[in-house]
Amino acid sequence: MRCPFCRHSDCRVIDSREVDDGVATRRRRSCAACGRRFTTVEEAVLAVVKRSGVTEPFSRDKVVNGVRRACQGRPVDEDALAQLAHRVEEAVRAGGTAEIPSHEVGLAILGPLRELDEVAYLRFASVYRSFSSIEDFEKEIADLRDAPARDTPVRAAPT
Ligand SMILES: [Zn+2]
Repeated sequence: MRCPFCRHSDCRVIDSREVDDGVATRRRRSCAACGRRFTTVEEAVLAVVKRSGVTEPFSRDKVVNGVRRACQGRPVDEDALAQLAHRVEEAVRAGGTAEIPSHEVGLAILGPLRELDEVAYLRFASVYRSFSSIEDFEKEIADLRDAPARDTPVRAAPT
C-alpha cells in the first residue's frame, strides 16, 4: 500500500478493526517515510454475474441509475434513491455469497421500489420482467391493489 501523501511504499499498520458488523476491516496506517497517517477499508468484492457470464463489481450507482430512469417525473428524490440502493446492497450482501446473478439484484430492487413509488415500481417491473401485454400490467396492478406494500397489518394465521 503506497502512502497517499508521498507515494512511499512502506506503510505500517498501526491499528486494525472490524466495522459494519465484520463486513469490512478498517486499518490505520503510518508511512515510514513521511510519518503521516491514513486509513484504508478492506471488504470482500461483491461480484454481479451478468447473463453473458461476465462479472462486474456490485455498484450502488448502477442501482441508482437503473431506478432513476423508472422514477422520471415521480416525486422521488436523490436521498430516497441512495437509501434504496443501500437497502438493495444490504439485501444482496445478506445472501452471504461473493457472487450474485444480476437478475437477483433486480429482484432485490423490486420490494423497496414498490414501497417507494408504485408507478416507478410498475415501470421497473415491466422492463425487468419483460411485460409483453396489457394483461401483464393488469395482473401486476391487481397484485398491488390486493397487497399494498404499506399499511399491511401482519395478522396471525387463523387457528
Ligand atoms: Zn508518506
